[in-house]
Parts: sequence; structure tokens; C-alpha cells
Amino acid sequence: MKILVLNCGSSSLKYQLIDMATEAALAKGLVERIGIANPRLVHEKEGAGKVTIEAEIPNHDVAVKLVIEALMHKDHGVISHIGEIAAAGHRVVHGGEFFTKSAIVTAEVKKAISECVALAPLHNPANLIGIEACEKLMGATPQVAVFDTAFHQTMPEKSYLYAISYGLYEKYRIRKYGFHGTSHYYVTGRAAAMLDKPIESLKLISCHLGNGASVCAVDGGKAVDTSMGLTPLEGLMMGTRSGDMDPAAVSFIMDKEGLTTKQMESLLNKESGVLGISGISSDFRDIEAAVKEGNARAKVALDMFHYRVAKYIGSYAAAMNGVDAVIFTAGIGENGIGTRLAICEYLGYLGIAADTEKNNVRGKEVDFSAKGAKVRCLVVPTNEELVIARDTLALCK
Ligand code: AMP
Repeated sequence: MKILVLNCGSSSLKYQLIDMATEAALAKGLVERIGIANPRLVHEKEGAGKVTIEAEIPNHDVAVKLVIEALMHKDHGVISHIGEIAAAGHRVVHGGEFFTKSAIVTAEVKKAISECVALAPLHNPANLIGIEACEKLMGATPQVAVFDTAFHQTMPEKSYLYAISYGLYEKYRIRKYGFHGTSHYYVTGRAAAMLDKPIESLKLISCHLGNGASVCAVDGGKAVDTSMGLTPLEGLMMGTRSGDMDPAAVSFIMDKEGLTTKQMESLLNKESGVLGISGISSDFRDIEAAVKEGNARAKVALDMFHYRVAKYIGSYAAAMNGVDAVIFTAGIGENGIGTRLAICEYLGYLGIAADTEKNNVRGKEVDFSAKGAKVRCLVVPTNEELVIARDTLALCK
């Protein structure tokens, strides 16, 4: 059975076709610049290199059509008929309080996704457009929505409520939702397998450190707290996002700089974080290179990032009254050898100690804890597409 996994952004569409017999991706790709100048599709058949297809791509309907054509192409295709795609699984960023797990797309599900648009104005509309484009092109083929927020719905009130008027929660559902749920779910499951222990017996802290970054406390397989909030802006310092700060600083900056709410949102989401502090880049490879050349602001940006991740790990160890393993995943977590070591150095008091030799890996599952360390340290490459495909398959069986 083959499942098409789609992740639609406002001007992009990422996809993978996964063969569920082997759970291997047969093909994957990215449509970029949908609805703007110079759009293109970069498609890769497993083991056969990339092809770039340039075409008019005015909307997501055309993008999905091109993806299906690429998947059926005589040279770089992997299927001969659209009917070979048993189902499509869609990443949906915000499921609000409606969804605690993935769902087959129905009219009610689409209505609930659109009711969450106010909570994720950049993402949910694009996710819905992708679902509707597939519905038009794929007829009765089942569509499944997999939510970034669903895994975090097990958080107790004491974790997810903000200490503001309860009436605002009741009126607008203002609360912590959390994101990267499929990633935290996948890596904590893999961690239990690596440790050869039932997940129900483990206290895990998952650090998804990519351009967007979040930490999640998972007790007995259930998320009990997470660093992202109502939106993906809260929590860690990120590539271009500020993460935690005093909310009073927001109105102060708006007053002083004469900024509108949109401009302020853009400043906090796109011009802050590692980019804002370093003034160089949001990309950790550029920052590490600048640090080597003696750039002081790049150094402070990197130090802040490490320090803030370590503080979250410490606070989540307290929240769970213990921790068995800390997991590092996503671009920086999987590849940032120095970053992992720097974070672990803060955490000796918890019983965390890294083995520098074992830590010397990129993009591979490894337990890099020093011999005898009380808390295990793991690298687990994430695979959100596989979680989406598995959930899709489970709901369509
Ligand atoms: P993601 O959003 O998960 O794709 O992660 C993107 C981030 O991972 C960027 O900041 C990259 O600089 C970082 N990254 C990717 N490869 C490396 C590497 N080899 N060393 C350090 N950071 C890396």
C-alpha cells in the first residue's frame, strides 16, 4: 500500500510517497514558489537523483497535479496509475482543542481546521488548500489530517493554562498548544526502543532543535509540558524567533518604534532569535563558522541558545521529578555535535554526561552517554512523514 504524505505551506508543498510494506520513501520532492514568480518542482525518485520541473504553478491545485504527474512519469515516476495511491496524509499545524489524534478528513474535520485558522493564520489555510486540492484530484481516495498539536493535548491544565484571566481562555481558547508533536512522538517512541524499555516506564525530554525549536516533557509516553505555546513563537530562542521574553517588552518596543501589531509579530518571528542577536544568520552552520573567526555576537547567540535549551531541560526534569533520557533531534539536534556537548555540560548535576567520541556523529541514532551516566543522552533523527503515513494507514485500514 502506498501513502502520499503532504506538507503544504502558503507557497510551497513538500511530499513523499511511502511504500508501507517497507516504510521506505519511493520518491519525494518540493514544489516551491506556488503563486509567485519562477515556480518549480524538485522531484527525487529514490536512488535516481533529482529532477527539476519548471512550469506555471499559479495555485495548489496545479502543484498537486504536477506532483501526481511526476510520481507517474515514465522516467522518474514510481507508480503507473493514480489509483496506486491508497490514501493521502496531510500535516496540519493547528488542531486546537478539537483534535487529540489524527482524523479522516470529513466536512466537520475541515470546519474544525478552519476554526483554528485564527490560531495559525500562516499555516492552517495552506493546509486546508492542500487537502482540498487532493480531494479534487484524487476523488474518493481517503485524506487524513495529522496535527502538530495533537500529541500535546495530554498536557494537564497546570501546564497549558497561561496565568491570565480564565475568561480569556474560555472566550478565545488562549492557552499553550505546543507544536512539533509528530516529531516528539516519533523520537520518544524510538528512544524507548533504543533503551529497550516500555515507554510507560520512562520520563523523557525531547529536544527538537531545528530552525524552529521546541522541548517536550514526556512522562510514560504522554506529553506533560512543552515549550511552544499558543503559537510556535514561545519557548526556546530559535533561528529567527525570540522565544520567551517579558510580554511587557512587546508593548514597550511597539510604543518606542511606532510598530503595528503585524510589524511587531514580524520582528519577533522573523528578525529575532539567533539572527537578531548575531546580526549574521539564522543558520547554525554560519554561526559556528563566525564563532571560529572570533565574532563576539555570534558567540553570544550560540551561548544563549545552549543556555536556554539547558534551562528547559532542567525545568522539565523538575516538572517530571526526574528524567531517564534526553533526546536530540532535527537539523541542529541531529548534526550539531558541539551544540549537544555544550548543552550537556550544564546538566552534570542531573546525572547527564556525554561521551565525546560517541557524540561525534551526525544524523544517526546513537546513545552518546558516558559510561555510568545516570541519564541517557540520545540522538534520534526525526521522521515526521513516517508518523503521518502510519497514522494515515491506521485510519484507512
Ligand atoms: P531543520 O529546521 O530541522 O531543517 O534544521 C535547520 C538547522 O539545522 C539550521 O540552523 C542548520 O544550520 C542546522 N544544521 C544542519 N546541519 C548542521 C550541521 N552539520 N551542524 C550544525 N547545524 C546544522
